[in-house]
Amino acid sequence: MAAIILDGNKIAAEIRGEVAAEVRELAAAGIRPGLAVVLVGHSPASEVYVRGKVRSCEEVGIHSEKHTPRDTASTAELLQLIDQLNRNHEVDGILVQLPLPPQVDAKRVLMSVDPAKDVDGFHPMNVGLLSIQCPGLVPCTPAGILEILKRSHVPITGQEAVVVGRSDIVGKPTAMLLTNANATVTLCHSKTRDLPAVCRRGDILVAAIGRPGMVTRDFVKPGATVIDVGMNQITDRTEFERLFAGNAKREEIFHSKGSTLAGDVHPLVAEVAGAMTPVPGGVGPLTIAMLMANTVRAAKLRRGARVRVGCLESD
Ligand code: NAP
Repeated sequence: MAAIILDGNKIAAEIRGEVAAEVRELAAAGIRPGLAVVLVGHSPASEVYVRGKVRSCEEVGIHSEKHTPRDTASTAELLQLIDQLNRNHEVDGILVQLPLPPQVDAKRVLMSVDPAKDVDGFHPMNVGLLSIQCPGLVPCTPAGILEILKRSHVPITGQEAVVVGRSDIVGKPTAMLLTNANATVTLCHSKTRDLPAVCRRGDILVAAIGRPGMVTRDFVKPGATVIDVGMNQITDRTEFERLFAGNAKREEIFHSKGSTLAGDVHPLVAEVAGAMTPVPGGVGPLTIAMLMANTVRAAKLRRGARVRVGCLESD
């Protein structure tokens, strides 16, 4: 039987609706959450992501402002900008679009963001809060993964969860969230021995690797829920054939654009998995929705209010 497709667009729209309702409630109390996005230089991919984030803010009623230092900006200049944003009471969330240019000390810049405004959840303070299960700001993609699982009623407690990829922004916080949600978690990386066998233990398998279609059928326990975080642009014809041979819709996209987006999970995994997220339209939309949720969360936490939307509830 083919896997149930977990529709990220639908879940993200649901969350955006909840966030918009919270924004309206805040507006009635005279509060308008604000997000400042810092985009250094002119990377076309980053510009697309930032446009999507700004558009999403408009949709849910969050005030957004874009800061665009030139691509020769120094670490000191960016630290100065972050300092201004940290002091600006109109700004509840600060997002520094990655990657930063090579001359910039990215870690120093990210660590200079006020943890209370760190809507990406990358600051060591928020990483620590996550590890001790205190409500803070949780990285958007991992938070989105948990929302997909919970809103799709995928059991987590007591389940074996395998996460492939140990990055600070996806793999590690996802493993932490799954642990906090009572899964038994195995975190894999490039040095893991016999990766397919380890992955086959997973009732839940999360792939956050950055290698198109690396997770094939033999990695997947029959009936498992597979979450594909990967976002890889395919431009090579042979690679395209390996992943999408016979897929007319993909063929049309590849033919017209010269590229198509592929996840880390091979599409034929759908024949073995019980449920899986598509790429595009799976985890991606959740990342932006959770950024909106985090901005409202930051606005409320900064004012000591109760927080509703987000995977760590607090009173
Ligand atoms: P990353 O920082 O490059 O980390 C990749 C991880 O995969 C590393 O831990 C690496 O292991 C592991 N890995 C690489 N090759 C492997 C192999 N052959 N076997 C086992 N593990 C292997 O990437 P990331 O930032 O976490 O992103 C991962 C993917 O998710 C990318 O495609 C990215 O574009 C996508 N992404 C999507 C969203 C979204 O919104 N959908 C958000 C963020 C990222 P080592 O640590 O041993 O090197």
